[in-house]
Amino acid sequence: KQEGRNTYRLFRAEMHQQDADRLRLETALRDTAETGEGLEVHFQPLIHRDSGAVHGAEALLRWHHPSLGPVSPGEFIPLAERSGLILPLGERLLHLVAGQLRRWLGQGLAPPRIAVNLSAREFWQADLVNRVRRLYREYDLPAGQIGFELTESVLLDKQQKAVAILEGLRELGCRLAIDDFGTGYSSLSYLQELPVTTIKIDRSFIQGLAESRGSAAIVAGVTGMAKELGLRVVAEGVETQEQLDALSRYHVNLIQGFFTGRPVPAEQFAQRYLTRCAW
Ligand code: C2E
Ligand code: CA
Ligand code: CA
Ligand code: CA
Repeated sequence: KQEGRNTYRLFRAEMHQQDADRLRLETALRDTAETGEGLEVHFQPLIHRDSGAVHGAEALLRWHHPSLGPVSPGEFIPLAERSGLILPLGERLLHLVAGQLRRWLGQGLAPPRIAVNLSAREFWQADLVNRVRRLYREYDLPAGQIGFELTESVLLDKQQKAVAILEGLRELGCRLAIDDFGTGYSSLSYLQELPVTTIKIDRSFIQGLAESRGSAAIVAGVTGMAKELGLRVVAEGVETQEQLDALSRYHVNLIQGFFTGRPVPAEQFAQRYLTRCAW
């Protein structure tokens, strides 16, 4: 009994520690959302499988806290979503991306379209389409220069309303992708109802492709259906030549992964991937 109690106490102490850590992180994140300090955006290229050309890039938020150091998105994004801080953080990210695009365009470079992740709260916030329209105007961006990635769970909820928002974004020329495809509650039939342009097959299926027949069946099904529906397909998380080769028999247009390019800061992205505008 004595031991049980000590274990229990230890457990309680650990719980308190976890709560304290989480609270500290949330407080730090709140400061960051207010000031924007320590936030940066990295860009990861989407590469045409057949030509090797750059088709676009995904913007990924990075947070470097002065005393905590770099905090991974896997840690702070869920916290930001739970606490609502994702709204101010997402707003900051959009301005970072738009500002960077404006500078590149001003330098005579030809940046590809950039995709920004939207979590549920961001997608459902009032007036999203008008916010995006104003952003395009404020930074004088070409139609479609910024697009969005959403997960299935966001879109399945209130489908009629989701369609209206997606249509508004499509009118601004935005590419729209369903992210992490296959991990949600996909009823595949809902796909044809949604005005999206792209499906991103989740990394877990790409990594399972060589080993598991289940993954292969899902990739075959998803890519076959995407082809029928005229949707682009991105394979996420391609890390090896073997994985790239394994994808060759499927209808996959685009590759995103460490094998073709890691997420990098803006300057490196420009050096590696941007070319001058042909006037
Ligand atoms: P995601 O949208 O699925 O983004 C792709 C993640 O996979 C990124 O992780 C990227 O660095 C990583 N990745 C890319 N290629 C490979 C690969 O070949 N192998 C492996 N193992 N990983 C690869 P990251 O940057 O840590 O972001 C994690 C998640 O955080 C994202 O998943 C996204 O859901 C969320 N996130 C990141 N930035 C933002 C943002 O600005 N807003 C919102 N709402 N969510 C964001
Ligand atoms: Ca994404
Ligand atoms: Ca993804
Ligand atoms: Ca994700």
